[in-house]
Amino acid sequence: MTMNIFAPRFIDIGAGASARIAVTLSKLGVQRPLIVTDPVMMTLGLIGRITEPLDQAGIHAVIFGDTVPEPVDTIVDAGVRFAIDRDIDCIIAFGGGSPIDTAKAINILLAAPEGSRMRAFKVPFAADVAALPLIAVPTTAGTGSEATRFTVITDTETDEKMLIGGLGALPSAAIVDFELSMSVPARTTADTGIDAFTHALEAFVSRRANPVSDAYARAALGLIGSNLRAVYHEPENRAARESMMLGATLAGLAFSNASVALVHGMSRPIGAHFHVPHGLSNAMLLPAVTRYSLHAALPRYAEAARLAGFAQDEDADQVAGAKLVDELETINFDLGVPTPEAFGIVRAAWDAQQEVMAAQALASGSPANNPLVPDAAEIIRLYADIY
Ligand code: NAD
Repeated sequence: MTMNIFAPRFIDIGAGASARIAVTLSKLGVQRPLIVTDPVMMTLGLIGRITEPLDQAGIHAVIFGDTVPEPVDTIVDAGVRFAIDRDIDCIIAFGGGSPIDTAKAINILLAAPEGSRMRAFKVPFAADVAALPLIAVPTTAGTGSEATRFTVITDTETDEKMLIGGLGALPSAAIVDFELSMSVPARTTADTGIDAFTHALEAFVSRRANPVSDAYARAALGLIGSNLRAVYHEPENRAARESMMLGATLAGLAFSNASVALVHGMSRPIGAHFHVPHGLSNAMLLPAVTRYSLHAALPRYAEAARLAGFAQDEDADQVAGAKLVDELETINFDLGVPTPEAFGIVRAAWDAQQEVMAAQALASGSPANNPLVPDAAEIIRLYADIY
């Protein structure tokens, strides 16, 4: 077996890690950061959790604070224009997956010839080159973007949520401090938590799974499966927040080394066409796609169910697999995940996009990693099922 393994050079994990950010910069030999973040981090004052320790270390950052949820190419271009003439030697991405992905995309374009468009870098292109060391500091638990070699950017001309992958999107370092996630609102806590679970599960059943991704995925499934409900119902539960943050990073490492599969392939077009947050569109799909795929990798799904605490060790694979699907449905109910219809998407609009969405899902390459590889007609059927 041959494997290619990707991970940041350094990850500082634990309560208060963000206060040590200057140490990470020093390890990387950099001292003139551009911080890429979103307006919520500025308004809530969370940004102070890194600017204050940086100031104390005599490091004064410039801040691009205009990123938007589910980032688009035009904001990336604005970030590139902001960065281009500044005296910077590194990028700090601070926030949820959206600012982190925006920062990664800016970093890739900064290394490309002036005027390059983001769409030139989408898969299957290998976006291996970026301009500067990037330090990712997640505030959600989460996309795992702090540890992955991917960024997801929407093309505003085609409404396509493009997957961009390569070493250029892999952070040099990450700071994983669960205390930054204590203020995440309930809806986002649920969506990002289910996103992290989906990463772990899809990496574990992926056709590209390997012993390294499996190790990360097994650990992530246990941490996330046993804390997902607690973190939603008890937002102040520090132990649950800590487990979810670590689980999300481990799930990121898992899928960065095994790839995601059908849920993500089908989820990106829902986000692009109907502006559903990424974690939520994953959650809408997860039970139905798991039911569809179950028998193509039953032992793997059954093991995932046991690791997550959804099935007992003594359950036969068939029983454990059924319990997994049941539990994913129950979690969606308990965590208030709406169907696309309940989210407010009009049936006619949903139906009208099915063929384009199925084509975009297949073109992303993710469905080809699924234990059961669907054709366009099966994807359309699954979209109809979840509506
Ligand atoms: P997000 O970054 O869009 O954040 C969601 C909302 O939560 C925002 O309003 C944000 O300001 C707020 N928020 C974030 N942290 C907070 C905190 N600590 N307290 C209060 N509010 C907070 O959401 P996300 O789910 O983290 O990221 C989604 C994006 O990540 C999508 O664009 C998705 O495609 C992408 N993604 C990327 C990868 C990858 O490997 N690159 C993997 C999965 C998802």
